[in-house]
Amino acid sequence: MTSIHSERLAASAAAAKSAGIDAMLITPGADLRYLIGYDALPLERLTCLILTANGEATLLVPLLEQPAAAASGAGNTVTIATHGETDNAFAMATQIATDALGATPDTVAVADRMWAEQVLRFRELLPRAEQTTAGTVLRPIRMRKRPDEVDALRRAGQAIDRVHQRVGEWLRPGRTEAEVGRDIADAILAEGHTAVNFVIVGSGPNGASPHHALSDRVIDEGDPVVIDIGGTMADGYCSDCTRTYIAGGAAPADFADYYAVLLEAQQASCNSVRPGVTAQSVDAAARDVIAAAGYGELFIHRTGHGIGLEEHEDPYIVAGNDIELAPGMCFSIEPGIYSTGRHGARIEDIVVVTEDGVERLDTIDRELVVLGA
Ligand code: ZN
Ligand code: ZN
Ligand code: ZN
Repeated sequence: MTSIHSERLAASAAAAKSAGIDAMLITPGADLRYLIGYDALPLERLTCLILTANGEATLLVPLLEQPAAAASGAGNTVTIATHGETDNAFAMATQIATDALGATPDTVAVADRMWAEQVLRFRELLPRAEQTTAGTVLRPIRMRKRPDEVDALRRAGQAIDRVHQRVGEWLRPGRTEAEVGRDIADAILAEGHTAVNFVIVGSGPNGASPHHALSDRVIDEGDPVVIDIGGTMADGYCSDCTRTYIAGGAAPADFADYYAVLLEAQQASCNSVRPGVTAQSVDAAARDVIAAAGYGELFIHRTGHGIGLEEHEDPYIVAGNDIELAPGMCFSIEPGIYSTGRHGARIEDIVVVTEDGVERLDTIDRELVVLGA
């Protein structure tokens, strides 16, 4: 893994340099894990990678975190420095940047998810330096997944697909969403994830709320049930897949109508993906089908989001995003139709842009699943 991280650090330093950024300050989160492979705990004690435009990289960690940092293998690609309980860690970090550059940095990029109190400490210590976000540099790099990352996302997709294939074991009339959700969470781990990121079991009217999680609602015969689930694999890559089920009995009449529209929309959106088309055109491909069928007002969210070391990351598949898709970009295609107070439906797959088109990383059947029929 070392050479991958060396490449990522070099590419990021070069991108920082061309963006006029002298130093990047990266605290725990997906950026840090991407750059050096260290899945660090976000703590009040400062852990920070100092990456300067000339390619020098030092990881500053609390002394008591040094074993964890070393165990991550980060020491193979960067120098690890430590601070003790009474040291001024922020001053040490800015000094490391200054030493590496031979001058005080004029422009520093802080991690997009750095805590505000840390951002302000750095501002106090470097009052003349312009602060910007590291995402401007790292986002374009992280968006284009290399084959090993696509493989990791494919494994995550297969793991979550296996959970969906088992939903019939747990989803039955008379059980609550919470009971079904607990079984699904166990299966997310059993099928290969190391963490459960979220479990949405939206039955009946709850299916009309896209981010409904779980409730004590008892699932009824014939209820449409939206199940949207995701987890994180040991390597840090995430899964996210939605299927809609009928919990025994027959689907409500108009539900079957709009589910057919949704299926067509999801297919049309997926078919539109190839290098060079814009993110917003992929959104429009789904939206046009749903609007033409008269359900446009009921598709109340964007079509998708990027995925990788984070469950939601760039690129966002939404009107107004004119970024051109390129090979290696991975994102969800998840149109939905939500009839408030009644029921809803969503179909979601993760896809990757290939050299000449698209590959779905979730491959299980997309037809409405009628259980116990
Ligand atoms: Zn969502
Ligand atoms: Zn989802
Ligand atoms: Zn999603």
